[in-house]
Amino acid sequence: MKQVRVRFAPSPTGALHIGGARTALFNWLYARRNGGSLILRLEDTDNQRSTQESAHGILEGLRWLGIDWDEGPDRGGPFGPYRQSQRLDIYQLYLQALLDAGAAYYCFCSPQDLAEEKARALKAGGDYKYSGRCRCLGKEVALQRVRDGYPAVIRLRAPASGVTLVNDLIRGAVEFDNSLMDDFIIAKSDGWPTYNFAVVIDDHTMDISHVIRAEEHLSNTPRQVLIYQALNWELPQFAHVSMILAPDRSKLSKRHGATSVQEFRDLGYLPQALLNYLALLGWSSGTDQELWDMKDVIPLFSLDQVSRSAAVYDLDKLTWINGHYISRAEPGMLLEEMLRSERVQAWLSDFTMDYLLAVVELIKGRAKLIPDLIDAAAYFFEPVSGYDAKGVKKHFAREDCAELLQAGLEVLSADQDFTLQSLEAALRDKAALMNVKAADLIHPLRLALTGRTNSPGIFEVAVLLGREKCLERIKQALEWIEANRIINAANTYSQLQ
Ligand code: GLU
Repeated sequence: MKQVRVRFAPSPTGALHIGGARTALFNWLYARRNGGSLILRLEDTDNQRSTQESAHGILEGLRWLGIDWDEGPDRGGPFGPYRQSQRLDIYQLYLQALLDAGAAYYCFCSPQDLAEEKARALKAGGDYKYSGRCRCLGKEVALQRVRDGYPAVIRLRAPASGVTLVNDLIRGAVEFDNSLMDDFIIAKSDGWPTYNFAVVIDDHTMDISHVIRAEEHLSNTPRQVLIYQALNWELPQFAHVSMILAPDRSKLSKRHGATSVQEFRDLGYLPQALLNYLALLGWSSGTDQELWDMKDVIPLFSLDQVSRSAAVYDLDKLTWINGHYISRAEPGMLLEEMLRSERVQAWLSDFTMDYLLAVVELIKGRAKLIPDLIDAAAYFFEPVSGYDAKGVKKHFAREDCAELLQAGLEVLSADQDFTLQSLEAALRDKAALMNVKAADLIHPLRLALTGRTNSPGIFEVAVLLGREKCLERIKQALEWIEANRIINAANTYSQLQ
């Protein structure tokens, strides 16, 4: 079997969208599954819309996802260059070959000529396709016109009848009626190739074995097949992956929220979660398993298990998967993502890396997104500046609250070891002594130490915060309770007046 060489060929005209990322992922999985190579090619022949910034963003997005490539614009390779704008001489060579063989011809029809032709055809009630007016110009005449400086495009001489067959590994055999295709343009009047031409020349000269790409390119494929045939080249295998639809089954767009990899990263999704989710958008293992590490997908991946029907995007599921990965991730890796936030960067100036890592380890089971994680970590690094309102009502409004907190204060200041076990034992003893439940001591303590009603185990929190900070925070809570008691009493008094 031919060596597997697949490619991801984005146009650098915008961000890396999740559809593009999924195409890249499927190519990567296919390459890794088959011991092949993944080639990254930048299709930047649209020089109006292509930007360096977009190219950079796409490469960065792929790297963040962990999709690596074997040849590409940044790392070179034996089939370069890997940017279409640097391959113009290669396209020129094959354009000339097609012209020489009479398989392509110069067309001098101006946009206005074509518009008139189209208007006439539509008026006569037919579908429009280019009439082939310049087909019959003699080669010499055409060349002279080109030399005289008349603008000309180059068109492929396409068959007027019969069918062009595309054997697609996902969609099966798809037939296209040649009579619906015209002599399409393969080079523009500025000499640059069109997409359909450049893609064929590149896929062939880069020895691509499988073209795995988005379904939207299926309709381009018969034109590409005609170019392969005109050049007498063997076809690669084609596989067109179905669309990703929004939950309402419309085309996924900005109005459905984040659509680019960078946006998902900024919202706090992890690359492993996004990859896992994207793999499930179209590929199925044939089991119910939803959580997948890519290293386990690689040996199973095959195009036979890629669905023909559209995949419907489901943000809740992605978020659920993300929570799973956060709860199992290495704290160092989570911290790397958290450190994108300036708030977290500021923590680093007062706290050690080890402390940050210990906090992340303690709270990572409590977050679905990176910002949740940052929020859940905040009281370890920032003072408690307020108390959860529901918690205040439930725990700080109790008559005996100050007494309970005071007891907590005593336990935390007296306990010599200040370990999980010693603190827990001492607090339980204290509760028994006071004839209250341990929870009666724990709830106000949690609110005092964290400002919240939800946190990891309070003894773990206390140990990490350290005795000094704990005592400070309990005293601060006692003062707050006292001050609010006075205010409440004053309010009641004024209401009575
Ligand atoms: N450059 C095309 C795109 O970004 C991909 C073309 C292809 O894969 O053949 O949609």
